[in-house]
Amino acid sequence: MLAGLGHAHLFVLEALATGALDGCDVVVCTGEAEHVYSGMVPGWLGGRYDRSELSLDTEQLCQWAGATRLPQHVRGLDPVSRRITLDNGDTLAFDLCSIAVGSKPAGLDVAGASEHAIPLKPLHNVERLRTQLSELAARGRGAVTVVGAGLAGIEMALATRARLTLDGDVARAVAITVLGVEHELVPERGPRLARQLIRACDRQRVAVRLGARVARVHHDALELADGARLPSDCTVWATGAAAPPWLAASGLPVDDRGFLLVDGHLRSPGAAHVFAAGDCATPLSWDDTPKAGVYAVRMGPVLARTLASVVQHRALPAPYAPQRQFLALVNTGDGRAIASRGSLALSGTWAMWLKDRLDRAFIARFAGG
Ligand SMILES: Cc1cc2nc3c(=O)[nH]c(=O)nc-3n(C[C@H](O)[C@H](O)[C@H](O)COP(=O)(O)OP(=O)(O)OC[C@H]3O[C@@H](n4cnc5c(N)ncnc54)[C@H](O)[C@@H]3O)c2cc1C
Repeated sequence: MLAGLGHAHLFVLEALATGALDGCDVVVCTGEAEHVYSGMVPGWLGGRYDRSELSLDTEQLCQWAGATRLPQHVRGLDPVSRRITLDNGDTLAFDLCSIAVGSKPAGLDVAGASEHAIPLKPLHNVERLRTQLSELAARGRGAVTVVGAGLAGIEMALATRARLTLDGDVARAVAITVLGVEHELVPERGPRLARQLIRACDRQRVAVRLGARVARVHHDALELADGARLPSDCTVWATGAAAPPWLAASGLPVDDRGFLLVDGHLRSPGAAHVFAAGDCATPLSWDDTPKAGVYAVRMGPVLARTLASVVQHRALPAPYAPQRQFLALVNTGDGRAIASRGSLALSGTWAMWLKDRLDRAFIARFAGG
């Protein structure tokens, strides 16, 4: 039973397609018609890609692999009776279950956020953002606020400027602001990246306001915790990752944020027949690993090999060990990207070329499905 079709499960489907999981009946529970590749979403918003270039059809993927897709999300898991509950209330039995359901944006319980803001997960919400931006561009004035000054938030703010610019020069009259609760930009990646990001934001007339906590969201404004009020006709919610509540409700061990704990074999320490990977999983020995797509992708081959070994009663393969640093490539929406690794950060069209190649290669790997 594969709950969700996150990145790691693409590798499990690939293993199934190539015979490595022979003898298994694999069922994939996902209400999503498409797996949308987040790394290319800012490029799509900014007009670089068509929607079809960053999406994989989940039904087609399942058919290619020889799995059965149930077009329902999972809303509960009972590891003792080995059953999952689907959104429509049906329950299904499993022998082995693997979970790759990602995360949801944190802080959506801020007053008015779920009514008036556009959360970046699920990623198909970006369609709504694109529609609202076209309306603003047609009006020729207004304000867009991105709440969350992490890499995804800044990338989306820069992509917003790229989209408005495509929609006409008049769109220059739309103000774009990124709000961050921290007093520094991406403190975990060092000052060089922060400087490059600020430079890109200055070039594209994106204002960055740090130390700003949103207290309430209205349809046309935001109230900050310090009492300030900001006009905002379109509010994008790009805060950090939060865990879907049903993971903790399963009774399986979770970390202090509610993400499933897993051992080096991506297996729950509370149930040897339950596995998890990607944002929804926190490796016990690497619990400070950021919730990022690169780690979800890294877990994929380990998960696929591990499940194949369990099914075939073979010794388990080498455990998962994340890289301690990873190359982040931030699309700045102007044909360039910033490449950052460790404390280094460099910007240029070459970095966007590299990002484009890596992202397209990932999609192409599974596009045969
Ligand atoms: C705009 C944006 C850009 C980003 N760019 C990058 C980047 O360049 N590099 C990077 O490393 N990270 C990036 N990230 C972070 C990255 O998106 C996540 O870390 C990554 O998607 C996590 O992968 P995953 O496989 O765990 O989950 P996901 O990719 O989120 O996949 C989980 C899937 O499960 C589905 N699902 C959710 N709940 C259920 C359920 N109950 N039942 C069944 N299915 C369910 C979801 O709809 C989704 O299809 C970006 C994030 C955003 C928002």
